Amino acid sequence: MSDDAKRDDGPAEKATPDPFEGLSIDFGGGPTDAVSLNGNGGATASPAPISFGAPISFDTPPAAPVRPKTGGPVGGPDDGAERDENRTKMLIIGSGPAGLTAAIYAARANLEPIVLAGIVPGGQLMITSDVENYPGFPDGILGPELMAKFRAQAERFGTRVIDVDVERVDLSTRPFRAWARGIEYRADAVIVATGASALWLGLESETRLRGRGVSACATCDGFFFRDKEIAVVGGGDTALEEATYLTRFATKVHLLHRRESFRASKIMIDRAIAHPKIEIHTNTAVDEVLGGAKVEGLRLRDTATDAVRDVPMEGLFVAIGYRPNTDVFKDELEVDEKGYLVVRDETGSKIEGVFIAGDVHDHRYRQAVTAAADGCKAAIDAERWLESEGISEATTAGAW
Ligand code: NDP
Repeated sequence: MSDDAKRDDGPAEKATPDPFEGLSIDFGGGPTDAVSLNGNGGATASPAPISFGAPISFDTPPAAPVRPKTGGPVGGPDDGAERDENRTKMLIIGSGPAGLTAAIYAARANLEPIVLAGIVPGGQLMITSDVENYPGFPDGILGPELMAKFRAQAERFGTRVIDVDVERVDLSTRPFRAWARGIEYRADAVIVATGASALWLGLESETRLRGRGVSACATCDGFFFRDKEIAVVGGGDTALEEATYLTRFATKVHLLHRRESFRASKIMIDRAIAHPKIEIHTNTAVDEVLGGAKVEGLRLRDTATDAVRDVPMEGLFVAIGYRPNTDVFKDELEVDEKGYLVVRDETGSKIEGVFIAGDVHDHRYRQAVTAAADGCKAAIDAERWLESEGISEATTAGAW
């Protein structure tokens, strides 16, 4: 991830909040392979309301659902007589910021999209606490609340969101097809926005204390750890980069790596070694995260001798890599050496009519706002492609 991407959140000037105060989300039910990536932790106290001088009138849009002009389920271009609720002009797979933004745009273009949202819909923001770097929310917003708003906005314009995991796709012929819970969905265009998940150590205590001192995103949560002693686990570039970033906030950052040699680039290692706030511990594995309501320590194991010791610690950042959610697309679309989808011409894929948006291809920025922007671009490109194929009306100019 680029330095720039991580440094634009600017939380450093704010007052220090209690890192765990106000966090009331139950993280226990979330998937073990997902994590806060796109939010940014921060103060729960509300700043003074912003005044723009004069009262603002935005011509408030109606809160009631806005039905697309065409109304009803889409039957596709070639089956006007019998309508099939599982046939759509645009199928969106994934329901994080990219997928739901694509849905908002597609719905407003009268494409009546179907979103196959996953059985844990909403993406990684669903297990994020405060999001402070998503524009438009000066007081911050909880990740799940933000995603509920995305979804409500998509549904308001006629998106059908179905909370199912896609098990299989066939993108070799048109209409494209996807299967979930035994139901076949058919679409003229598809947007893949399935995201990427951070990897976790797999400890029960790590899952339990996620959002309570355990994190996988320094950009998102570093601000919570001002003046605290924390640890980062991992030996790749992400771990080294996160450790360096976290020295802005923490009094000390312990870098824990299970082997003697690092996978990270030399320049990152040299920077960490030279940093007065970073202490490197090689041959060190985390066996347990200690603490009841929040992280209070770590049980560490020397991987050379198997000796175990408990150390006090106020936070743990897990930085052991990411896994793009591309399993069902591997045989259909191009993936790079890290497993991410390969994009052509901004949002396209090797298959005409199949578009890609968000973290499933973007391993550089991994932010909610960049994923949302990507979803918007993919929807516009898909809609234009549908127009060019004569499948949808030419609504582009006015629909967005
Ligand atoms: P990597 O796969 O490179 O590294 C993962 C690290 O986590 C390894 O050191 C690995 O240990 C360790 N690890 C994996 N599983 C466990 C586990 N269960 N317990 C303890 N440790 C574990 O992932 P990164 O996210 O660091 O990097 C991914 C890619 O992104 C790389 O190509 C990297 O270069 C790139 N990147 C580039 C950056 C930049 O240029 N600024 C910044 C961040 C990433 P082990 O070594 O023993 O396998």
